[in-house]
Amino acid sequence: MSKAAAKGLDYLVIGGGSGGLGSARRAALLGAKVAIVEHGRLGGTCVNVGCVPKKVMFYTSSHMEYIHDHADYGFTVSDAKFNWGTIKKARDDYVKRLNDIYFANLQKDAVEYIKGHATFTGPHEVKVGDKTYTAEHILIATGTKPIIPKVPGHEYGITSDGFFELEDLPKKVAVVGSGYIAVELAGILNSLGSEVSLVVRYHKCLRSFDDVLSDSLMEEMTNAGIKVVKFSTVEKVEKAGETLTVSLAANTEQGVASVIPGVNCLLWAIGRDSNLVDLGIDKTGVVLDRKGFVTVDPYQNTNIQNMYALGDVAGNKLLTPVAIAAGRKLAHRLFDNQPESKMNYDDIPTVVFSHPPIGTVGLSQAEAEKKYGADKLKIYRSSFTPMYHAITKRKTKCHMKLICLLPNEKVIGLHMIGLGCDEILQGFGVAIKMGATKADFDSCCAIHPTSGEELVTLR
Ligand SMILES: Cc1cc2nc3c(=O)[nH]c(=O)nc-3n(C[C@H](O)[C@H](O)[C@H](O)COP(=O)(O)OP(=O)(O)OC[C@H]3O[C@@H](n4cnc5c(N)ncnc54)[C@H](O)[C@@H]3O)c2cc1C
Repeated sequence: MSKAAAKGLDYLVIGGGSGGLGSARRAALLGAKVAIVEHGRLGGTCVNVGCVPKKVMFYTSSHMEYIHDHADYGFTVSDAKFNWGTIKKARDDYVKRLNDIYFANLQKDAVEYIKGHATFTGPHEVKVGDKTYTAEHILIATGTKPIIPKVPGHEYGITSDGFFELEDLPKKVAVVGSGYIAVELAGILNSLGSEVSLVVRYHKCLRSFDDVLSDSLMEEMTNAGIKVVKFSTVEKVEKAGETLTVSLAANTEQGVASVIPGVNCLLWAIGRDSNLVDLGIDKTGVVLDRKGFVTVDPYQNTNIQNMYALGDVAGNKLLTPVAIAAGRKLAHRLFDNQPESKMNYDDIPTVVFSHPPIGTVGLSQAEAEKKYGADKLKIYRSSFTPMYHAITKRKTKCHMKLICLLPNEKVIGLHMIGLGCDEILQGFGVAIKMGATKADFDSCCAIHPTSGEELVTLR
């Protein structure tokens, strides 16, 4: 075997996304000799086809929403036209700048960048092109890939990856899925002017979220003009000329078979699988769970010594800051003599960039009732129209819910949907992580007039 390169590596990281980069750079800063393998663009899903370009599109669509309110605020805005090409170019240029920054950061931190596809040839042996690499420690951080169902005509649809390649705003769209990516992309397209149908398998979207969030979002999406087709799955897709006909089957007894004709863009957003494509994972002996994600313990150890996995490929809380934090914690454990360094997966604040946005942390009411019993909880709620809408014809609502554990009313869940909730959440996330009680919330003076003040004045 030729070990042509990188003899004596301390740490070989496979995947230059959020988790891989976070771990590799921290390990190098701690003095380890590190290399990272990436076959695509540096930055991974988040930077190239996830959080970053998605947020740019969320901002874009928010402009369109505010345009509806301009006249109510006294502005005469005639002839406002939207050009998809302009924002696509600006967005792609921004992403390219980020790719370059990530490359420069690797150089700055002396992380060797190996461009190519990594394949295991054994538990501690990785091939990239014609070179073979070994290292004391190996991290699998290869992320996930979108799932495409095996229905006839599935190939006519795109995924979130394809959304970022669209050259124009599609006129009529069918988004299939009920998770956060489905509702975010449906919301963006709808706000920008596409006619959007959202096909969901059961009675609502975001079913694992607190009811106040999923129920309110269903109402807001319907008010905003999204047609939610419930209890349905796609049976087949047919193409005639430039348009698609999407045939739906009833998923449960409550559903009815139906057809969405004249679709210009079909977007699959039905979930994500671990990305182990041509990785040779079978050569390693690493165990996968029943859904195909890499099984790890709380320290990100796989079952094979000195092999680790984290981020999306390990299937726990698929979020960028989680992958980065887990990666850094692992680097400190391996190279900084911190044997207890590990990610704490509790109380991770999460935002959904829906219209309006959602902020959530801690247990949903259903989870809290299951864990502690309903009689051990006190629930506080508030529903109001944010002041921004006091003078607009267009209205959206804000709903907030605090779930407190008796007897001292420790806050164990905070859920909100409404304008600005995405930005409000982070600070409250700190409070909850510190174990704040309802009394602590109340002891904080309100900031007036804001939506956030509701959270410290709940009764
Ligand atoms: C549409 C969308 C929107 C999202 N929005 C948000 C958001 O708003 N906030 C948030 O926190 N999270 C968001 N996420 C999730 C976030 O992007 C992921 O949680 C995060 O990127 C996971 O990081 P990772 O390092 O585990 O994987 P990734 O970032 O996917 O990185 C894995 C990398 O490994 C590379 N790779 C795979 N196999 C190989 C191989 N064999 N050899 C070499 N390289 C390989 C891939 O090319 C990729 O670059 C979003 C995701 C999507 C799809």
